[in-house]
Amino acid sequence: MSQTFSRRDALKGIAVVVGAAGAASTVRTARADAPAHLSPTDPTAQALGYHESAKTVDAKAFPTYAAGQMCNTCAQLQGKPGDEWRPCNIFAGKLVNQNGWCKVWVKKA
Ligand code: SF4
Repeated sequence: MSQTFSRRDALKGIAVVVGAAGAASTVRTARADAPAHLSPTDPTAQALGYHESAKTVDAKAFPTYAAGQMCNTCAQLQGKPGDEWRPCNIFAGKLVNQNGWCKVWVKKA
């Protein structure tokens, strides 16, 4: 059994591919617009002792740290509760991990 493709079939195929590529491009654009995650190696993050996980904070190196302190319990954390990565008043334009910690931690009211 042989199949032949008409010019119309070929154009339909191209339209599907172009449409899918456009949709993928839109998704990439939306992600590109999302703020980046704050890196612990960022100079400001390092200066403020930011850790992506409060569990990794060395209490001897950071004596102001106490168990239970984490971004999720900090007054500086913004955004939607439950989101893993959220904005912080201290690190404008970046997202911090809700389980993270830095020296600026202030107890949430
Ligand atoms: S200020 Fe608070 S929310 Fe922001 S990184 Fe430091 S501990 Fe986390």
